[in-house]
Amino acid sequence: MIYFIGAGPGAVDLITVRGMELLKRADLVIYAGSLVNPELLTYCGEGCEKMNSASMTLEEVIAAMAARPRTQTVVRLHTGDPSIYGAIREQMDELDRLGYNYEVVPGVSSMNAAAAVLKAEYTLPGVSQTLIVSRMAGRTPVPEKEDIRSLAAHGASMALFLSAGMLEKLCGELIEGGYAPDTPAAVVYKATWPDEEVVKGTLETLPQKAAHLGRTALVLVGGFMGSEYERSKLYDPAFSHMFREAKK
Ligand code: SAH
Repeated sequence: MIYFIGAGPGAVDLITVRGMELLKRADLVIYAGSLVNPELLTYCGEGCEKMNSASMTLEEVIAAMAARPRTQTVVRLHTGDPSIYGAIREQMDELDRLGYNYEVVPGVSSMNAAAAVLKAEYTLPGVSQTLIVSRMAGRTPVPEKEDIRSLAAHGASMALFLSAGMLEKLCGELIEGGYAPDTPAAVVYKATWPDEEVVKGTLETLPQKAAHLGRTALVLVGGFMGSEYERSKLYDPAFSHMFREAKK
């Protein structure tokens, strides 16, 4: 069986228990070398073959998977959660075409890890109930309707992947799109890795403050990093719901 597994954001103990168990019994692991923590590979058994997909094409990845007897365990290890910029769909479609079975094991995305590092909640009552996950266009184009400026018009919480290398342009477009220049913004570099670094500021100050950070970083934007919000209804003493009567 072939398993697409989310390796988590970096720290070895942030892979799921299911992912770790499969990793331990894998015969072949193909890992996304640039972002998966290599320490995870030390949990593989002795006979396990490990391949770094950084230098491989889609065709080569599929060929390596297909070269294994179907009784073996093949792990395709992706950073964070595989459903976010993981390029797994094209692999799964190819496996479907060839008649191979596979499963997907979710992972902790770096957007979850970054929120944990900041001790933040993306969906604060009275601030935003929406998290927009997007990126700046790079070599992969972004559909025109999803232009950063038009997404910014919502004023929602935003987690931006693959864009830390274009911080100045990004923050400029977010302001053009409608966020106030003093909207809280942060760059979380290598969340949960030993060299993790956080820079907090505003859309105006962030490009300069975070210029020294590398690209393995998320850009977070929104009032959810500010001080104002409303209390939740769920834990409000004056509010009844299915499991609790309001206190008079
Ligand atoms: N599937 C991954 C994202 C892969 S795209 C996930 O769910 O997290 C690669 C981008 O993810 C990087 O450019 C960066 O923006 C972000 N990223 C991955 N790991 C990160 C980490 N530990 N800290 C901050 N950002 C990270």
